[in-house]
Amino acid sequence: MSLSPEIRDFLQEEALTRFLRYVKVHTMSDESKAGTTPSSDRQFDLQRILEAELNELGLKDVDLDEHCYLYATLPASPGAGSTPIGLAAHVDTSGAVSGENVKPFFRENYDGSPLSFPDDPELKVTLEDSPELKNFIGDTIISASGQTLLGADDKSGIAEIIAALAAFKKFPELKHGEIRICFTPDEEIGMGTAKINTDKLPKFCYTLDGGEPGELEAECFDAWGAEIKFKGISVHPGFAKNKMINAATTAARFLAAMPDYETPEHTELREGFFHVTSISGSEEEALIKMIVRDFEVPKNQKRMDYLTKLVEYFEVRYPGLKIDLEFKHQYENMWVVMEKYPESVELASKAIEMAGIEVHQKAIRGGTDGSKLSLMGHPTPNIFAGGMLFHSRKEWIAKSALLNAAETVVHLAALWAEK
Ligand SMILES: [Zn+2]
Repeated sequence: MSLSPEIRDFLQEEALTRFLRYVKVHTMSDESKAGTTPSSDRQFDLQRILEAELNELGLKDVDLDEHCYLYATLPASPGAGSTPIGLAAHVDTSGAVSGENVKPFFRENYDGSPLSFPDDPELKVTLEDSPELKNFIGDTIISASGQTLLGADDKSGIAEIIAALAAFKKFPELKHGEIRICFTPDEEIGMGTAKINTDKLPKFCYTLDGGEPGELEAECFDAWGAEIKFKGISVHPGFAKNKMINAATTAARFLAAMPDYETPEHTELREGFFHVTSISGSEEEALIKMIVRDFEVPKNQKRMDYLTKLVEYFEVRYPGLKIDLEFKHQYENMWVVMEKYPESVELASKAIEMAGIEVHQKAIRGGTDGSKLSLMGHPTPNIFAGGMLFHSRKEWIAKSALLNAAETVVHLAALWAEK
């Protein structure tokens, strides 16, 4: 059941026009103000535009709250089933590169050569940077002009969701159940669910915040933090023989005894790692902070057992040295929730196929708002939004990707409407 050319043209046009409007609004979140939501007031600038657009499209209960979360409801079409779904995306952009004064730059009928940028002749996107480019020959490739990021992460997700809502209004023959919208601030600083009102969300949600067309993510890391505090004995170095225990040097030896290749720079796909995020100290005291990541809990447990045994060994090897080891569970793999509701992932996968795209189901090497929502009891797979090379001046998106994702939303809503 594919959509008519008329509906597809409409979705393409809507998603593109809205996307170009949204990327021009500066919405960078501010890591230094992560304690307040939103971290930057400018995120309201886009939310107010979206609030007006959702009202214009006739959505109900449109509500922009004080913390910069925008909620709205599209009632089910007549005869549709009663299971509501939630669609979420984030308005902020990454602080890694400026998102101010974004000037979208188009390459029509793309010929497969490296991308260059009008405002920075040095900047190129090669096929090595983005092997996916070869899938888009003949398409239109959109990037920023070379001075800023584009903001497809995640303004493409917002544009695709609203394009689908506009299609539901214009083409009443498109069946859908109740749809609840939630546009969030501060995803890029890890605070996207900090003030979210989960009472406004239905049981089953989706984020549109993934990369290349076809991407579907329902799994993320099981994440732990570890702090290892070394307590040594400081003595004047001239009289230290058999007395001093240098916490700083023992900490360095401790790190040298860790597995060489279980680090982020040597792992990919489903491989886990230890990652040292900081080391500091002197003779008296030293502190190592690290994160431990894997997709499977028993494998993380093994890494933590390794650290525990290494601590015991170091205390034997350096009599008088005391080491405190503390683990903190940071977040869980969303799969523990998702596996109880396989249908939510299956329907997303089916919707992507119905949009004519091959599904690539991947595990996220990190955490997302969707993983946090899942663990809050709302299974939330992440669906592609189409952008590539996020958080950089090289960020780009193909015009067709906007259509593919908007079409996926339309099919997803139709599949759920049968429930
Ligand atoms: Zn994002």
